[in-house]
Amino acid sequence: MALRIEAIPVGPFQANAYLVFDDESRRAAIVDPGADGDRLATRLQDLRLDLDAIWVTHGHLDHVGGVAGVRRVFPTAPIWLHDADRPLYDAVVTQGRAYGIPIEAPPAPDHSWSEDDVVTVGAHEFRIVHLPGHAPGHVALVGEHDVFIGDVVFAGSIGRTDLPLADPRAMQASLARVSGWAPHLALHPGHGPSTTVGVEVQTNPFLVGLARPRGAGST
Ligand SMILES: [Zn+2]
Ligand SMILES: [Zn+2]
Repeated sequence: MALRIEAIPVGPFQANAYLVFDDESRRAAIVDPGADGDRLATRLQDLRLDLDAIWVTHGHLDHVGGVAGVRRVFPTAPIWLHDADRPLYDAVVTQGRAYGIPIEAPPAPDHSWSEDDVVTVGAHEFRIVHLPGHAPGHVALVGEHDVFIGDVVFAGSIGRTDLPLADPRAMQASLARVSGWAPHLALHPGHGPSTTVGVEVQTNPFLVGLARPRGAGST
């Protein structure tokens, strides 16, 4: 029943796609298939996994460029994206052209994330937390031990807030929320290596000092 997580960096931005699966039931979800959809689908098939869902943390092209390819192989896997990121998601083909990156238009999302939604892989639950700032509809998926944090927090850094639809003030509030989470939680970011809430609160210059004493504030 162990939850397994495999990070696969994809595309020119080396965004992390994550295969999330239950060892026993072979149920799986994929987080942010940002490019190389065919390769990701092949990896799922090689692992003999059934794909239950495509979970997108936010609508930037480096996180959704492989959605179409994965969905072609797993046509019943629903796509989840927060409605507030539809303007970004719907513009990725045009955006890709601006960067010189050909992107296959992703199919329309099937579900919109809402705060406190709970989604599962096998017996493992993830709760949705809306963390706007880097993108208006950015969410984190928070499990018992593992968090898919997208481009909100990286090891030692944070996501950009100078992109279209970004909001630096909202980002500060989102970072303050993350700082209040349990230190043991592993953070699996959209780029670069995984880390933990505890390590980032202690060492990430963008998070140091944001955490309030435990119990003194809201999460
Ligand atoms: Zn992003
Ligand atoms: Zn990114």
